[in-house]
Amino acid sequence: MAVGQRLSLFKPRLLEIQPTRSMLVVAPHPDDESFGCGGTLCLHTQQKARVDVAFLTQGEMGGSFSNPPTDFEKQRLAQKRRQEASDACKILGVNQYTFLNGRDSLLSEQPDIYKEVLKILENHRYDTLLCPWPADAHPDHRAASQACFRVLGEYSEKLDIWFYEVRSPLPANCFCDITAAIGLKIKALRAHVSQGTELCEHAWCLGRYRAVQLSSANYAEAFLQISSSDFLRLLGLVQ
Ligand SMILES: [Zn+2]
Repeated sequence: MAVGQRLSLFKPRLLEIQPTRSMLVVAPHPDDESFGCGGTLCLHTQQKARVDVAFLTQGEMGGSFSNPPTDFEKQRLAQKRRQEASDACKILGVNQYTFLNGRDSLLSEQPDIYKEVLKILENHRYDTLLCPWPADAHPDHRAASQACFRVLGEYSEKLDIWFYEVRSPLPANCFCDITAAIGLKIKALRAHVSQGTELCEHAWCLGRYRAVQLSSANYAEAFLQISSSDFLRLLGLVQ
């Protein structure tokens, strides 16, 4: 790739809400969808775009437990987080959400999880895939990104890839003005009651910071939009 092409990849642009879009969000855990792209999802569903979410795990390790947690504790938290995810998806206007069979904190040991994502893509023919940034600090988030990469190896239709950020900031090239949706984003995050209130504080702060790129916005979400071939190059750099 020429240097000019590489630089143009990182030229910032404003994300346009397109009602015809059909989007699949790959979320390693319940709450990643709300934190990483909740405002953008709301703005799309308000315009009648289709937004579905695939939760790779039920987030059963995301709590305070005895050490190690018992199966009962994990099952009880999984049940609670499924309900919280359902409440959050309702707030975001999500059309359909699915829980896949990934184990929380062990996604990197389950490379075949991508087959379940592939099945969803083949059934619904989305045009946009949102997934965590491959250099995210959380191992499950990186594993989710790799699963999406495996999906692209077997999926023949054209897909726009939008990376979203959760635990680590990404080198964004696209910004969505979510000023009109920040209230719903925070409401969706609050629906994840078991995860406490800190997430909301982080979302407020990150949203304000990301708005620096947009002169008229109070809150923004940032993405790295990339082609599937650039995804391959990027993974080569961060692995
Ligand atoms: Zn997560």
